[in-house]
Amino acid sequence: MSMKVLVTGGAGYIGSHTIVELNKAGYEPVILDDFRNSKPSVIDGLQKILGKETELLNFDVCDTERIAQYLSKEEVCGIIHFAAYKAVGESVVNPLKYYQNNIEGLVSILKAVSKEADIPFVFSSSCTVYGEPKGQKEVSEQTAKTIPTAPYGFTKWLGEQIIEDLYHSNHELRMMSLRYFNPIGAHESAFIGELPIGKPNNLLPFITQTAAGVHEKLTIFGNTYPTVDGTCVRDYIHVVDLAAAHVKALEFLLGQRMGCNEIVNIGTGKGSSVLEVVDAFEKVNEVTVNYEFGPKRPGDVIEIYANVDYAKSLLGWQAKKTINDAVRDAWRWEKSIRSKE
Ligand code: UDP
Repeated sequence: MSMKVLVTGGAGYIGSHTIVELNKAGYEPVILDDFRNSKPSVIDGLQKILGKETELLNFDVCDTERIAQYLSKEEVCGIIHFAAYKAVGESVVNPLKYYQNNIEGLVSILKAVSKEADIPFVFSSSCTVYGEPKGQKEVSEQTAKTIPTAPYGFTKWLGEQIIEDLYHSNHELRMMSLRYFNPIGAHESAFIGELPIGKPNNLLPFITQTAAGVHEKLTIFGNTYPTVDGTCVRDYIHVVDLAAAHVKALEFLLGQRMGCNEIVNIGTGKGSSVLEVVDAFEKVNEVTVNYEFGPKRPGDVIEIYANVDYAKSLLGWQAKKTINDAVRDAWRWEKSIRSKE
C-alpha cells in the first residue's frame, strides 16, 4: 500500500505539525499549499525536524482539475483537508472570501475524492459548531449543533453537512470530521509553530507577543462571566496532540472495510479560564504578561470544553500534553521567531 497522504494546508499551523506526526508514524505526507496564509519558512522548519524534504504541491485547493490529475497518477492512501481561512472577525467583514475558500475548497477536494472513492478523508472541523451550549459546559458529539453567527463558523457547520450529504449519496466513502477545541503551543523543537499574519485574534499568540514586547498589554475580554474567575473558559489542546489525532483518524479510516462518516471531538476534556492560561504562562516561563480587563468580546462563548470519550473509544487517542507543556512550547517558539528578526 502507498503511504502517501495528501495534506491540504500542510504549511499551516495544524497542518505542519500533522506533517511531522504522519512522518513519525511512517507515512509519506505531501503538502498541498499555495502559501496564501502561511510562510515558505515553514518548509525549512519541517526539513530541520524531519531531516528530509517533503513533497510540495504549490497550488490552490480550489483547482479540482490539478488535484484530480495528481490523484490519477499518484497512489494516495489518505487526504487530510486543513486548507481554510480561520479568522472569525475577518469572516464577518469579508464573508465571501470565507465562503469561497472554505466551501469551494472543500467541494473541490471532495469532487476529487468522490472520483477515487477508496481514499479516506479527514476534515478540520471546529467546536464552533456547538455555539453557546445551552445549560452545559461539556459538549459531546451528541450535543446539538447551533448555526454559528460568524461566516467562519458557518463554513465548518456547512462543511460537516456537505460531507454528510456526500456520504449519503455514496456509502462507500470513508470520512471523518474532527471538531477541534483550542489548539495552542508549538513543536518542542521550536522549528515550527503558529505564525499569525498581522495582529493575532487568538489568545496564546497574543500572550506570547505581549511577553515579547510586541504589544504593550493583553486585553482580557470580560471578567464578570459566571465562571471560576469571571473570565471565559476553553479547552486548550497542544497542537502536537491534535496533530497526532489526525494520524489516529486516518488509521481508523484505513482499517474500515465499509464506508463510514464519523464526527469526533478533539480536546483535552478540561477547561481553563483566560486567567488560568495567563497564570500558567507566567509561572512556567518566568515572565510577566501585562494585562488589563476590557469589555466582553461580542459573540464569545462563556464556557466550553470537550467530552473526549468518543475519541478515546473510537480512535484510542487522548491528549498527552498539559497546558504547561503548551505554554512552554509556545514561548520557546515565540522567542525563536524573535531571534530571527
Ligand atoms: N481572549 C482575550 N484576549 C485576547 C484574545 C482572546 O481575552 O486578546 C479570550 C477570548 O475572549 C476567549 C479566549 O481568550 O475567551 C479564547 O479566545 P480565542 O480567540 O483564542 O479562541 P475562541 O474564542 O475562538 O475559542
